[in-house]
Amino acid sequence: MTAAANHELPHVEYVRLIDEAARLDGVIAIHSTARGPAAGGCRLWTYPDAQTMLADAARLAEGMSYKNAMAELPFGGGKSVLRRPEGDFDRRALFEAFGREVEKLGGRYVTAEDVGTGVEDMEFAALHTSHVAGRSARPGFAGGDPSPWTALGVFEGMKAAAMFAYGSSLSGMTVAVQGLGSVGAELCHMLARAGAQLVVADIVDERAAGLADKLGARVASVGDIAGVDAQVFAPCALGGALNDAALDVLRAKVVCGAANNQLAAPHIAGRLLDMDVTYAPDYVVNAGGIINVSAEYLHEDENQVRARVMRIGPRTADILEQAGELHLPTSQVANRIAEQLMAQPAQANT
Ligand code: NAD
Repeated sequence: MTAAANHELPHVEYVRLIDEAARLDGVIAIHSTARGPAAGGCRLWTYPDAQTMLADAARLAEGMSYKNAMAELPFGGGKSVLRRPEGDFDRRALFEAFGREVEKLGGRYVTAEDVGTGVEDMEFAALHTSHVAGRSARPGFAGGDPSPWTALGVFEGMKAAAMFAYGSSLSGMTVAVQGLGSVGAELCHMLARAGAQLVVADIVDERAAGLADKLGARVASVGDIAGVDAQVFAPCALGGALNDAALDVLRAKVVCGAANNQLAAPHIAGRLLDMDVTYAPDYVVNAGGIINVSAEYLHEDENQVRARVMRIGPRTADILEQAGELHLPTSQVANRIAEQLMAQPAQANT
């Protein structure tokens, strides 16, 4: 089965997952395997119908192809999506059944946790397959919480974007950070150490107040954060932060943050270009987490993770320079580069 009939959906191979006894009803979507096994997390979510689930899986799998290729990982893109059973259900049975299905693919797809799933679920799956990451950390190997690596990649990308747009370091600049969860809070610490001034906002008031106390940051309301007087805006909450309303008030000339799918609609990329805003594409700068998860699967150590994450800075600079020369949206240039990379096998040293 493919998604080709629906022209809005990327072309993927679907592997349907059904195990009535375990209440498993899901799909693995494989978008690309040229660079290596299709890698992408397992989402547990409530879907109104199977069609919606398949569409979500296809789009998410495509997104993983771009992200993995751009991070120069030896992986293609895939994703698994499971329908959350109604009422109480046996998580162990569900994820063991999922693990058996992943194993049947013989390594063509590698899973990990995603929205709605966690380390324990992956441990259940791992009872039946070795093609799983995002498990408990083991001493000496990469693994564990990916958020600090994501924050480091965003920080490196932001330094590159600030240098490109303003010709200077982040020291003394004001950065507005939207969302102070695992990644946003860690990013704020890095920025404070680098001498940046912070304006922060979170829907959880205590998070903003606590961080403001610790780092001497100013708190803005959730409604105001996109429009505060700052050189850099860092969306680190949910997707879609860059919408028309946000752009109407945006004062920062650099946007660089951790959130996935920051562009609320395709035309936003063009608007950012017209406004002369330097946008560091989300999936380029937020790849630290997937780099860490991949390293776990590849049995790499922390030094190898750090080396890969530190490449995010120069990569971001390269994309911004190319986009500047071609006068194209940065996201368009990033996509072109990722498409070239995803069509070819990974180099031996990546
Ligand atoms: P998180 O859930 O720990 O934090 C999100 C924070 O945003 C929370 O504090 C929440 O209260 C806040 N928030 C939600 N809506 C908000 C709003 N409208 N305005 C202000 N704050 C709001 O998530 P996280 O792990 O820190 O991830 C942040 C973003 O980065 C997400 O979009 C995630 O998909 C993306 N991302 C995370 C990783 C990772 O390693 N954790 C990797 C890649 C991408």
